Amino acid sequence: MSENCLFCKIANGSIPSKKVYEDDEIFVFHDITPVAPLHLLLIPKKHIKSLNELEVADGAILGNIFLKISSLAREFGMSEKGYRVVNNTGEFGGQSVHHIHFHLLGGRHLTWPPG
Ligand code: 5GP
Ligand code: ZN
Repeated sequence: MSENCLFCKIANGSIPSKKVYEDDEIFVFHDITPVAPLHLLLIPKKHIKSLNELEVADGAILGNIFLKISSLAREFGMSEKGYRVVNNTGEFGGQSVHHIHFHLLGGRHLTWPPG
């Protein structure tokens, strides 16, 4: 837990969110400003700032996050039509919250390339 980190506070429940799933390692909730009919955020409970700070030991957590993306996409009926997983890293990547997170976007046709 990092003090003054919004997503650490969401993961420990001190800031409320629309929670979808939680286990020992990861926390999943609805984005407060959805940009698609389904817009979930998946985060590790461990405070990792971004992909830049990822360590070999974090590999299992990321594996769990991606397995959860796959099962939630199925659960929310996104698997057949498809969906997008986004990670924004750093300034040029458009990262605004400095606790690593993965956006799961679905429910509409998403454009490519991003702006
Ligand atoms: P980023 O731009 O860093 O990749 O994504 C951060 C995301 O967090 C944004 O999509 C933003 O809408 C979402 N967000 C920011 N503050 C909150 C909050 O307090 N609650 C929730 N549920 N989402 C938030
Ligand atoms: Zn954090």
